[in-house]
Amino acid sequence: MLDRQTALSWMDAFTNTIEENKTHLSKLDNPIGDGDHGHNMSRGVKAASEALNSTPPNTLSEVFKTVAMSLISKVGGAAGPLYGTAFLNMSKYIGDNETLSKEQIASMLEEGLNGIKTRGKATTGEKTMIDLWEPAVNHFKENGTLDARIIDDYVEKTNPMKATKGRAAYLGERSIGHTDPGATSSGLLFKTLIDTAGLS
Ligand code: ADP
Ligand code: MG
Repeated sequence: MLDRQTALSWMDAFTNTIEENKTHLSKLDNPIGDGDHGHNMSRGVKAASEALNSTPPNTLSEVFKTVAMSLISKVGGAAGPLYGTAFLNMSKYIGDNETLSKEQIASMLEEGLNGIKTRGKATTGEKTMIDLWEPAVNHFKENGTLDARIIDDYVEKTNPMKATKGRAAYLGERSIGHTDPGATSSGLLFKTLIDTAGLS
């Protein structure tokens, strides 16, 4: 179940886990990118957290709108607008709803995923964050549950993929054998949601 308070707790947990994994995420971005993913995300979640604290949102929808704006303006790099669009779409899906059921959470995430796909003009199998979002959303829709193990599984499945989108695509075959940083940070987003909204 997701309401304003749970959403704030989710964003808080996401901020903390990004901080804890900042170096790791940037390290993953070294061999197949420019080594900044963790630092980009850290700037974004810090800005989001500051915005949520300085102007506390009154509605569930507003929580994600605030997060979206902070990520779009502060992350820099490809991931910012992609995450930002996901949160913006989620905020639009929520509308006037103040409490989402599990089914609605699944639809909300699907709207987020659609935003990422449209914005990045990418699909599954291209070694991006979509390779976490899409299977995770589908699993959740089909089973009504999600857990950390399955999320880690999807993250690892990006390792043997050849990148055809984003910076990693410049490496072609040499992108094979590296786990995608954006899929990894998205895994952290989903795992903190599983914990805070009780989806397992
Ligand atoms: P940059 O590549 O500009 O340095 P980041 O390092 O912050 O940006 O983010 C890189 C991540 O963004 C990749 O690991 C990948 O998951 C994601 N990404 C890049 N391009 C796309 C795209 N077109 N669609 C979806 N995700 C993408
Ligand atoms: Mg990068």
